[in-house]
Amino acid sequence: MKSAVLPEIFDEAKIGRTPVYQPYLVGNVSRYVNDCLDSGWISSRGEFVPKFETGFAEFVGANEATSVANGTVALHLALEALGIGSGDEVIVPTLTYVATVNTILQTGAKPVFVDSLADTLQMDPLATEQAVNPRTKAIMAVHLYGHPCDMASIVAICRRHDLLLIEDCAEAFGSQWNGQHVGNFGDAATYSFFGNKTITTGEGGMVVTRDPEIMRRCRRLKNQGVSSTREYWHDILAYNYRMTNIQAAIGLAQLEVASEILALKAQVAEAYRVGLAGLPLRTHDPVGSVTHSHWMCSVIVDRCQDRDPLRAHLADQEIETRPFFPPTHTLPHCRGEGEFPVAAGLSARGINLPSYPGLGQGQINRICAAIRSFWR
Ligand SMILES: *Cc1c(COP(=O)(O)O)cnc(C)c1O
Repeated sequence: MKSAVLPEIFDEAKIGRTPVYQPYLVGNVSRYVNDCLDSGWISSRGEFVPKFETGFAEFVGANEATSVANGTVALHLALEALGIGSGDEVIVPTLTYVATVNTILQTGAKPVFVDSLADTLQMDPLATEQAVNPRTKAIMAVHLYGHPCDMASIVAICRRHDLLLIEDCAEAFGSQWNGQHVGNFGDAATYSFFGNKTITTGEGGMVVTRDPEIMRRCRRLKNQGVSSTREYWHDILAYNYRMTNIQAAIGLAQLEVASEILALKAQVAEAYRVGLAGLPLRTHDPVGSVTHSHWMCSVIVDRCQDRDPLRAHLADQEIETRPFFPPTHTLPHCRGEGEFPVAAGLSARGINLPSYPGLGQGQINRICAAIRSFWR
């Protein structure tokens, strides 16, 4: 009996499913986590918490960092520590992840949405300045998908109008504006270490600030508002937003390979840029004097009607993709006034491709070929 027909599994294009993300858990992760288990320090006290905080601050060029349970509470903690609340307005790009806007709403402040720039995908400085009014208290700059915002313009707006500046760096670990790591331009900045972020702790987050008083408030607010001089005495309404020693153990191990992760991600982005040239789409390339950390490698198709069929075409070949975020002002509980045509267009045309550091050139070639075949 002949067996001339190979089973489909041997067709290279059909082997395995390529996810959008996969954490890069190499190095000392297991060793450090097992240290926690062996020593019993599994809760939010233990040696890894301060080690991770110190190492992280050093990596991103911050004075001090305080760890928290996730990137969402990091944002909430920063906003609370800066005294933002009811009656205040916070200017935020509508094209962002929902957590940025939810945490503004949770403080009682009002998010005021602005449009984005088509090339960088970041908040539009002109629209931002136009949105300033006497109730404006702060600007929330989000470095979306790893490309920095125009920090020169945004810092200048904050100076002119005496506004606080918070940077949501959840997607921008490793990103730089003019040679300076993001998160160092304003009053506070936050990071996320969710499983698909550039470095991960499973769930986790960080707040950085150069102001020791703001840092003191963050530490107190994340730890039930406990008095530093009297046991079990809590004199402000506060939270338990602490990170565990196990999370910090994973984080410290990730930090040790962070440069390797960033270098691999830069290679992935470059391979897509080269591999997708000449198609009716563009990749999300760095604009100006920036380091794009490529949290997500994205394509923006020329015609919005191609977006969903292209995603379906890739899904048929076991290639997972994500659509860009919907503009947050369109979400039922966020409803904001105004028209944001650039954000709407980007949101309708953008796709996040598999973007993880372990992605090999062979897989990228397969993904590029699959994208190319959509237009053939
Ligand atoms: C991931 C993310 C967050 C929230 O972080 P979590 O750790 O998931 O809570 C906030 N803002 C942006 C822009 C994000 O991408």
